[in-house]
Amino acid sequence: MENAATRLDTVRANIARMCKPARREPGDVTLIAVSKTHDAPAIQPLIGAGQQVFGENRVQEAQGKWPALREAHPGIALHLIGQLQSNKAEEAVALFDCIHSLDRPSLRNALARAMDNAGRQVPCFVQVNIGDEPQKGGCPIGDLPAFLAEVRQTAIPLAGLMCIPPAGTEAAPFFALLAKLAADHGLSGLSMGMSGDYETAVMLGATHVRVGTALFGSRG
Ligand SMILES: *Cc1c(COP(=O)(O)O)cnc(C)c1O
Repeated sequence: MENAATRLDTVRANIARMCKPARREPGDVTLIAVSKTHDAPAIQPLIGAGQQVFGENRVQEAQGKWPALREAHPGIALHLIGQLQSNKAEEAVALFDCIHSLDRPSLRNALARAMDNAGRQVPCFVQVNIGDEPQKGGCPIGDLPAFLAEVRQTAIPLAGLMCIPPAGTEAAPFFALLAKLAADHGLSGLSMGMSGDYETAVMLGATHVRVGTALFGSRG
């Protein structure tokens, strides 16, 4: 049976392997272990194996399990990778070290206000609706220049761009498009790639990969 440490080694080795042809350094890629739906006993072995960066997609679920885990293991960074309602902005700013789902003016206003009130600047990725899917979150590509300009007028630290390509299609063209959009706007951070496609994402410039299943096994 594979354990958490073995799976972590495998994912890290795959990232390093894909960095090589792309002439990148493995240290330039942040592996976010996506622990959504997994409880503390499932998370602890990964922390024990040296993983320090984790991702959750729901504020409430993260509030339930991370304060205790972080107290026991100082130095952990927590990223919010899922959609965020504006009325949860205060809680998200208090709990997370990075937010990957800034995608609309109402949320930008709520986050800017929450950061101002808390005196805490949390870097945010702007999520792009890269496949132009009506049911998905993310800023439409056509709105991106104006939205980025607006975010830059706030005190929100802009980390880069994030995307989730359409399911069931080849992800590479969408990753390449996100990389081009980031370059066009002078942004270096690229949050892209999940268990099924993080290697491709690293080749195409991902600085942050969000990997759940490949580290934790399937979600029940
Ligand atoms: C769940 C999730 C992931 C991780 O997905 P896996 O396929 O389990 O690696 C990555 N990004 C987002 C936004 C997610 O919601």
